Amino acid sequence: MNTEVIKIEENNIDSDAGSALERAGSIIRDGGLVAFPTETVYGLGGDALNPESSKKIYAAKGRPSDNPLIVHVADIESVADIVKEIPEAARKLADAFWPGPLTMIMNKSDKVPYETTGGLDTVAIRMPNNKIALELIRQSGGYIAAPSANTSGRPSPTVARYCVEDLSGKIEMIIDGGQVGIGLESTIVDLTSGTPMILRPGYITKEMLSGVLGAVEIDRTIIDGNSKERPKAPGMKYRHYAPKGELTIVEGSQEDVVAYINDRARAARADGKRVGVIGTDATKSLYVADVVKSVGNRENEATIAHELFKVLREFDDENMDVMFSESFDDSGIGQAIMNRLLKAAGHNVVRI
Ligand code: AMP
Ligand code: MG
Repeated sequence: MNTEVIKIEENNIDSDAGSALERAGSIIRDGGLVAFPTETVYGLGGDALNPESSKKIYAAKGRPSDNPLIVHVADIESVADIVKEIPEAARKLADAFWPGPLTMIMNKSDKVPYETTGGLDTVAIRMPNNKIALELIRQSGGYIAAPSANTSGRPSPTVARYCVEDLSGKIEMIIDGGQVGIGLESTIVDLTSGTPMILRPGYITKEMLSGVLGAVEIDRTIIDGNSKERPKAPGMKYRHYAPKGELTIVEGSQEDVVAYINDRARAARADGKRVGVIGTDATKSLYVADVVKSVGNRENEATIAHELFKVLREFDDENMDVMFSESFDDSGIGQAIMNRLLKAAGHNVVRI
């Protein structure tokens, strides 16, 4: 299949871009797939109400079919048709955070095929905060099922070239809207049983949700890497975000971390390995390795969220054998950052 790549600027959806989005919408209505930017990461979109489209999404990503897809809508009114009822909590959260990086789980109506929900009676729904995504959803009939637009297991794409790398030849179109704003996937909150529960941490933190709803829980399995329990979001049980080389997270005081990483880097390089280090603006110049990259600035954790997946992908491009990363504070959005980084490292952490 020939994959068409088109560039659209989010802040300039002029008539050219409008007609390209109309075409993209008709691809999805006809059962095809289009990768597109959202504010979190790039999504791989198909018609959420068409079981054949969902099957194609799983095939293009190589995604296990028990890992449900998030349905993207362009307004809260569209939610009514695809759920049994809209819980009061969902209305409040939509008021506070939609459009935005928050996915809500509700009980599905018969309109949503089991192919989209991985066989579950619940459906995950989000309204993205990106003008290209919202217009594409409207042009596509209102409901786009879209997981992250990467091959299953690899870091999620935050720029279009990584969608091209993973999906070229497998889908009809890729819309290049530049680098995404947030860089980590949405927070997922389950509203179907008792106290609302966070199933995946993201940019919308527990504190932000509690501010609107009061009590909010976190699925314990996502905090405790050694938990033997099954995570409630089926996707969280899989190895994810994994770079091709071996990644170790090093935790400790800045001085100790730098000394430890430089020692290990020297030894690995003496063995002929290519070594990469993930540091921050403040520490980047202190490391000795083949490639050292900063993910941003600890005082502003949003910068780290924004860069993390891109840096992991760049290390793949540069064929790193071994990588070391600093560890980050796990409060607020840091919880989402550490959740992704720990998965990328297969929970390989050294505490010094
Ligand atoms: P991705 O689309 O790649 O960001 O992954 C979507 C995530 O949402 C996966 O971890 C899924 O397991 C989770 N998810 C989607 N639908 C549901 C649902 N109905 N119940 C629980 N988790 C869900
Ligand atoms: Mg994903």
